Order: sequence, then structure tokens, then C-alpha cells
Amino acid sequence: MFDVNKIRKDFPILERKIWGDKQLIYLDNAATTQKPKIVIDAIVQYYETYNANIHRGVHKLAEEATAAYENVREKVKKYVSCDSNSEIVFTRNTTESINLLAYSLGESFSEGDEILLTEMEHHSNIVPWYLLRNRKKVNIKFAPITDQYELDYEKLEKLITKKTKVISITHKSNVLGTVNDIKKIAKLAKTNGSILIVDAAQSAPHMKIDFSDLGCDFLAFSSHKMCGPTGVGLLVGKKELFEKMSPFLGGGEMIRKVTFEDFTTNDVPWKFEAGTPNIADVIAFGVALDYIQKIGLDSIYKHEIELTQYALTKLRKFDFLKIYAPADVNKHAGIITFANPVVHPHDIATIVDQEGIAIRAGHHCAQPLMKKLGVSATSRASLYFYNTKDEIDVFIGALQKAFDYFELGACKELKEKVGERISK
Ligand code: PMP
Repeated sequence: MFDVNKIRKDFPILERKIWGDKQLIYLDNAATTQKPKIVIDAIVQYYETYNANIHRGVHKLAEEATAAYENVREKVKKYVSCDSNSEIVFTRNTTESINLLAYSLGESFSEGDEILLTEMEHHSNIVPWYLLRNRKKVNIKFAPITDQYELDYEKLEKLITKKTKVISITHKSNVLGTVNDIKKIAKLAKTNGSILIVDAAQSAPHMKIDFSDLGCDFLAFSSHKMCGPTGVGLLVGKKELFEKMSPFLGGGEMIRKVTFEDFTTNDVPWKFEAGTPNIADVIAFGVALDYIQKIGLDSIYKHEIELTQYALTKLRKFDFLKIYAPADVNKHAGIITFANPVVHPHDIATIVDQEGIAIRAGHHCAQPLMKKLGVSATSRASLYFYNTKDEIDVFIGALQKAFDYFELGACKELKEKVGERISK
């Protein structure tokens, strides 16, 4: 049984008071989530009882640490339903996972090859491809979004050509919350012989992911957005592709043999894990995965849809506010981005912060998308399974205060301006 009040007790930080007596209300989960005590304890336990480097030593501690680290691959395998542990590479974060792909896949690309992205990508799925473009002179294209804040699948399809080597696309936008139809794109990619990369940073924490069923070639996500520690990223990918790719970083662990002349590479996944990895945090990430699965992704998703619906009903009463999201709540559960043309989102975030409420304001590492939306910044409330309707009520009350301060409700002409925000 999903019991949000019971769940909240697992998170020490949720007890925290801000500015003296304001109860923390954490609505910045798309940036990073809070950690349950068992995850924090797992880190302490590792350092207190079996801290050792892995894969090298034959002593007991090294064996224990290696087994615990490698066991997390097993947990990830179950979480995303991929075929084998060889398909799972630990990185530092989603950003590093995508950089690894852009670099290593990109080694075999040549001038004129094309990379297809979308207008709703996070910088971490844009800049690595720009870096590749600087090295290899590949062309980068962006599939547009519609005025309903969804991907324009027809236009995306038209942008695919025989030169499209990679389609790299977010599963769920960190700004709009839009969930993209990966299976549909996977079919197009497969027919065309393009590699499909999915940025699952915002989807993996909230919904069931089935790597085989999605039909993509690579999936990237971050531990810290799903109750795990910072400093651990995941790159799940098809083994045969990993085997063909050149390594990203060189050093210890990723080699089989090194001579005065050259080196040979280790098997995957270790070929892509150069140097001592983030052992403690990977192990604690395994605990986070168990924790999320115990709560259940179906329950998590259901709770988030309910909360989002509840928040939207209240937010829509501020009719001078523009909400950047698809009309169907099922398509953007957990993420609510809004703005109006007069008050800067940073001012809104600062005022609600005075009430102990953490939301995000800014460009959300998606400056091209902001340009498309015709704004320089937005405010974003992002939810997770430990948030409650009571918290939403306090948040709406704090927003009301902010809008009263700026006398927004009184500005009639604003309502008209709000209708003009999206640039076509
Ligand atoms: N992609 C998306 C959709 C994201 O929301 C984020 C984090 N905001 C990232 C990639 C990058 O994640 P990280 O900072 O953990 O590398």
C-alpha cells in the first residue's frame, strides 16, 4: 500500500526547517531528488566496513567491495530489463554517458554525417554533439516541437536521411515534462539504420523502463535523480555496439594488456570504466534502486499524476500564468513549468523560497528550447513520490503571495500577452 506519510519518514531531510520555522517543501526533483536514510547509510557502511579498491586486490575487503559493486549491474539489469550485465556501463552522470557516446560512436563518423536531436533537449544532449561537429564536421539537425509542446513526429521523420547516423532524444523533457514516443522513433531509426540514443534522465526515476521493448540502442540516466547519490551515471547499450566502439577514456581497468608499444582493451563494460570508479556511490545507488522498486513504479507514477493534476487545477486559477505543458496530464506527470511576461521567474522562486519552498527558475539547461518558447527563463515545480497535496496547497499559497506582491491579478492586459508567448 502506497502511504506517502510513511514514505516521507524515510527521508531525513524532509524534516528540515528553512529560514527558522518554515517546513521544507522540496519541489525541485527534476534537478535532483532527496535520499532515503538507507541510501545514506549504505555509503557510511561501505567506508566503515569494507572500503577497498575493486577488481584488483585478492584480499577479503577487495572481494566484498567488488561483489557489491558488480551486483549493482544485476539490479540495473532488472530495473531496465536489458539482456546482460555487459550492457551496463557506470559513468558519472547522464552528461558523461552522452559525451561517451558522442565521442566513441563519433570516432567512425565523417564529414556530412548527420545527428538528429530535438528542440526539447537538455544541453547535455546538445553540446557533446556540437563538440563532435567541431571534430568531425557532422551536421546537427533539430526536430521541432508543436505548439502543444509535443514532438512533431511527422517533421522528425522528414529530417531522417540516409546520412542520419544517430538520433538522440530525450524520453521526458525536463522543462515541458513531455514524454516522447520512443518506440515510434525506434521503428524509424531501425528502418533507416540509425543508432537511437535515449536520454532517460527524467523518465527512469518515474516510470517503468524496458530497454528491449523501447527498441533503442542506448539509454542514459543519473542515479541522483532517483534517490541515489550524485556522481553515478548509467549508460545501458547494446553489447555489439559497445564492442565496436573505441574507448572514451584510457587508463587502468579498461585495458587487457599494455606494452611499451600499445594496449589492448578490456571486455565491455569495463572497457568504458577507466580508473577507480565511484564504488561507494554505485553501491548506494543499488540500494536506491531496491528502495524505488519496493515502493513500486506503478504507484509512483499514479501518485505523481494525481499530484500534478491537483497542482494544475489550482495553478490554472492564475489565468495570467502560462503553463508550458501538453494538455494531457498523462504526458507530463511530475513537471510543471510556468511563466508570465512580467515577473521574472527568479523573483517568483525567491519569494516562494522565503516560505521554505524549493522550486527551480532559469533556463533549465535548455536555452534553445527557451528560445523556441519565446522566454529567457521559466519557473518549474517538479514532483516526486514523497510530495503531498498539502505541500501543493502551501506552494499555491506562496505563489498567491508572490503574485499579490507584484499585483499580477490586477493586470488585465497580461492575460492577452500570455497568449502570445510561443514563437512559431
Ligand atoms: N537530461 C535531462 C533531460 C536532464 O533533466 C538532465 C538533468 N537536469 C540531464 C540530462 C543531465 O543530467 P546530469 O546533470 O545528471 O548529467
